[in-house]
Amino acid sequence: MKEKIKELLKELFGDGGTLYASSGRINLIGEHTDYNGGFVFPGAIDKCIQAKIKENGTDTVRVYSIDIDSYVEFGLREEDAPSEQWARYIFGVCREIIKRGGVVKGFDAIFAGNIPLGAGLSSSAALESCFAFALNDMFNDNKIDKFELARIGQSTEHNYCGVNCGIMDQFASVFGMKDCLMRLDCRSMEFEYFPFKADGYKLVLVDSVVKHELVDSPYNKRRESCERVAKVLGIETLRDAEMDDLNRIKDQISEEDYMRAEYVIGEKERVLAVCAALEKGDYETVGRKMYETHAGMSKLYEVSCEELDYLNDIAKECGVTGSRIMGGGFGGCTINLVKNELYDSFIATAKEKFAAKYGHEPKIYDVIISDGARKIEK
Ligand code: ADP
Ligand code: MG
Repeated sequence: MKEKIKELLKELFGDGGTLYASSGRINLIGEHTDYNGGFVFPGAIDKCIQAKIKENGTDTVRVYSIDIDSYVEFGLREEDAPSEQWARYIFGVCREIIKRGGVVKGFDAIFAGNIPLGAGLSSSAALESCFAFALNDMFNDNKIDKFELARIGQSTEHNYCGVNCGIMDQFASVFGMKDCLMRLDCRSMEFEYFPFKADGYKLVLVDSVVKHELVDSPYNKRRESCERVAKVLGIETLRDAEMDDLNRIKDQISEEDYMRAEYVIGEKERVLAVCAALEKGDYETVGRKMYETHAGMSKLYEVSCEELDYLNDIAKECGVTGSRIMGGGFGGCTINLVKNELYDSFIATAKEKFAAKYGHEPKIYDVIISDGARKIEK
């Protein structure tokens, strides 16, 4: 990838330029917790976007996407927005830096990546973070702090791509560190690194490649349930609730709202339990908590689907250490913590059984926890 990018930059735009990268991410545990003021627990992965970029002395940005085989030019004013979706991620980053008083000058860039698009690994956040990091380094003496770089990516999604996302994906892509996961407190925005050195295990995503069409915006409904329970408890978010509190008001809320809140409160506790386990290198407990999260998402929060429950069952039958839905639910991937010696048989079984039932094989993505946004070479 690196060689191809370098070669093409030279061919299209001449010598010079600097190579930058940023990564996709996984979230080990902590799902549907962000809007409840709780914790998420992501890490950057060894799949990334790489871009070679050089200043061109004009007011125009010229970018070639190798993977999409598409070339776009745009100016840096608000009215210069390109129509190509992939280019809007880069344009948005430029605009969000400028809106914050930062500097962006014309540049030429070539980029490519190996993060599967739309599979739940946040290729879009990697793209934003790669350019945000690069433009901070090239034009702003790295004066924009890293959290602001993540916010620049998030605002890009909101303002230029029509995606109303939280901060986790961009945060993970910017702050990611090899062999470390990060517990981000979505209330205070404080975070802490935890060692993730699962020697003897692999992390593998099994992508069901299904996405169920959602009717009646179930996400909004889940949020509303959480808000209702918090209101009865007299607190801002469920972050501040314990199971005892919930049980005290059980007869004042619907059975459904109770289940939703039970999941959220349990998930907060599970993230903290995983952190404690990681500090001891206890991956068996980590795996158990992952299964508990899956069960909670499936039975209490009701955001799973048949295909994901089936993948979870297969993992359990194969003796996989931990397995759960990754992401909001209703389709996408499971994330699995698998002992090395079980890996081959688990993957073969998952492919075979899933295909027999649903007519297509799941896609398999091995991931290694790696560095986030970075300069690769001058
Ligand atoms: P994801 O879950 O992977 O972030 P999104 O739909 O949010 O899925 O973002 C995918 C979009 O990001 C693509 O449609 C494309 O516009 C852009 N993108 C991501 N990776 C690349 C790439 N390697 N080359 C070009 N565009 C990319
Ligand atoms: Mg995305």
